[in-house]
Amino acid sequence: MKIAVIGAGVGGMSAAYDLAKAGHQVTIFEAADHTGGLAAGFKQPHWNWSVEKFYHHWFQTDSSMLGLIAELGLSDKVMFPRPVTVMYHEGRFYPFDSILAALLYPGLGWGLGKIRFGLVGLYLRLTKNWRALEKTTVDAWMRKWAGDRVYEQMWEPMMVGKFGEKYAKQVNMAWMWARLHARTTRLGTFQGGFQAFCDQFADILRGMGVEIQLSTAVMNLSAAPEGKVSLQLTSESLVFDQVLNTTSPALMARMAPDLPPDYLKGLLNLRSMGAVVMVLSLRQQLSEQGYYWFNLPKSAGFPFLALVEHTNFLPTEHYGGDHILYCGDYLETDHEYFQLSKEELLQRFLPSFQRINPNFKPDWVKESWLFRTHYAQPIPLVNHSANIPSIRTPITGLYFASMSQVYPWDRGTNFAVKIGREAAQMMLKDSQAPAA
Ligand SMILES: Cc1cc2nc3c(=O)[nH]c(=O)nc-3n(C[C@H](O)[C@H](O)[C@H](O)COP(=O)(O)OP(=O)(O)OC[C@H]3O[C@@H](n4cnc5c(N)ncnc54)[C@H](O)[C@@H]3O)c2cc1C
Repeated sequence: MKIAVIGAGVGGMSAAYDLAKAGHQVTIFEAADHTGGLAAGFKQPHWNWSVEKFYHHWFQTDSSMLGLIAELGLSDKVMFPRPVTVMYHEGRFYPFDSILAALLYPGLGWGLGKIRFGLVGLYLRLTKNWRALEKTTVDAWMRKWAGDRVYEQMWEPMMVGKFGEKYAKQVNMAWMWARLHARTTRLGTFQGGFQAFCDQFADILRGMGVEIQLSTAVMNLSAAPEGKVSLQLTSESLVFDQVLNTTSPALMARMAPDLPPDYLKGLLNLRSMGAVVMVLSLRQQLSEQGYYWFNLPKSAGFPFLALVEHTNFLPTEHYGGDHILYCGDYLETDHEYFQLSKEELLQRFLPSFQRINPNFKPDWVKESWLFRTHYAQPIPLVNHSANIPSIRTPITGLYFASMSQVYPWDRGTNFAVKIGREAAQMMLKDSQAPAA
């Protein structure tokens, strides 16, 4: 078969891998001039490793991702350092990445709160019954079982930070379950950065005969005669036996307006947050304690949700001695951070660095880069499983696999691999089914 995959992100490339392995002729169309999608990175001339535009790491439980890397023969390039994550409490930061650290953290009080926190964590780690949990919200469930104090100290700042005041109270408890059920404190990356992985994956695909057309945006998708799919580029129209789209639900709806109204409505009803991430290179280390990930409550006046000192996870030598810092936030797309210039945002962000290190001076900043995306974090509301669009669309031969469909899991490259490969299996199965 002649198959098109739209998007050279991790999901699209994973699908292309299985489709090409099955002997089909696969073309990937990618709008950007590089592979990697949301997991892509960038590099300065004096850096040996790339830096992800949006901070990225793997968990040890990311079996789909690590399994694919093993199949590609690249496992020796994966590493799992153990960086330190910290929580804010009354003006100070406390490590929060082990049972002992949790016991010592003052934000949970010294009595019942810690016990309830521990029991809730244990229950969520053990239970597999996420379907019961999606019927209620994180806010209601956590207040009931962990208690108001634990919820307000531990989880509410993260919910408000990730989903904003509007959605923080509406996100269902299966989302929180997915995070606590499967994540590890050891965090993984690839030698050279995620972009190095994507580049090597793309080279393997090319070696298998997959054509990757970069800087080639797909404009329109529609049904063609004999159950084929017509794909419109800016200057030409092509016909494929099957097409898999791995972009966002909003883009899918725009590209394929002929989809039946129910399916289109399902795509357009899905909610998601955007992300704004500033990357800075500094002359000096910001966190002298060597902390990697700072969870910051908006209520304490920080202008972003997470401060991540990448070079407290990986050595500065990979980046020519630069210290790499991320300031990240999840926001609705009408937030002013989507309009402000990089310089305006930097002026807002700089004062908060002194709260991490009182010696910080603005002239520590060598360079900064700003990355924004409208589609960063799907928002799962109560009973969300009923709202997931099917991978197989009502247009014969047209398939759709995005971050919004990996539910109950939260989005991540691991689940991009999983859904990409699931879509490929479905396409292969359909191609073998006798014509109706
Ligand atoms: C701030 C942030 C932090 C994250 N942190 C992590 C993390 O720590 N670990 C982790 O594993 N995951 C993380 N993720 C999630 C991870 O990046 C995604 O789950 C994953 O990359 C999604 O892959 P995908 O292939 O489904 O989609 P995408 O990566 O979005 O790929 C879709 C591709 O389609 C292309 N495209 C769009 N329109 C068109 C068009 N018209 N024609 C052709 N091509 C088009 C895009 O350019 C893109 O390359 C994070 C994401 C964000 C935003």
